[in-house]
Amino acid sequence: MRSLTAPELLGAWEAGHPHAAPGRALALLCSAWPEHSPGELARLPVGVRDSLLLALREATFGSRLVGLVPCPACGEQVELAFGVEDVRVAPVSPPPEVLSVDQEGHAVRFRLPDSRDLAAVMARSGGHGQRSLLSRCVVEASREGTLMDAGALPDGVVRAVAEAMEAADPQARVELATTCPACGHGWAATFDIAEFFWREVEAWAQRTLREVDALARLYGWSEERILAMSPWKRQRYLELAGA
Ligand SMILES: [Zn+2]
Repeated sequence: MRSLTAPELLGAWEAGHPHAAPGRALALLCSAWPEHSPGELARLPVGVRDSLLLALREATFGSRLVGLVPCPACGEQVELAFGVEDVRVAPVSPPPEVLSVDQEGHAVRFRLPDSRDLAAVMARSGGHGQRSLLSRCVVEASREGTLMDAGALPDGVVRAVAEAMEAADPQARVELATTCPACGHGWAATFDIAEFFWREVEAWAQRTLREVDALARLYGWSEERILAMSPWKRQRYLELAGA
């Protein structure tokens, strides 16, 4: 896995910013894997997508991850510092295209959620997250051999389907055991690489644009030329100019 170059990162930032989280993650993947069509990348199961994002993040910004999460008990911002290896799950490769669950007289055939499903569920206001995601992914549901609507599946079967999805695509859900230093509360904090990586890209892009702006004003260089320089060299020029 190679690192994204400065022009590629800025391009992905520009392409992703009008979109919600699933579209942003796709913009990063499209930039790193131009040989695959956006449609192909959008159909990757979420956990497979997240493995790629994690590898891309490691190649681009390194393997250390530092973030803040609010303590659910007292609200204190708790720092989480960990390595890519702490959140990387060994892949169940390749995840099956269609899975099935047989429970409480119900038979359900379903596929794993992908970026299209996440985007559709997010776009629906007040959608019942897990249920609408599941309904989109059910290929066929039946009770005692009679076809039925996925929306009418009992809660126990819905849970079994969700568990089977998680087992087949484990990177889609990552939790970190966390303890609040202020109140001692312990909980499992969810880590979302798509959201985390995008926030970093955004901060990096803002910083880089400021550098391009300052150097272009000072020396009249093009964006292309400034981006081709290493960050280290850009800093040296900015220092020399007293900017
Ligand atoms: Zn706390």
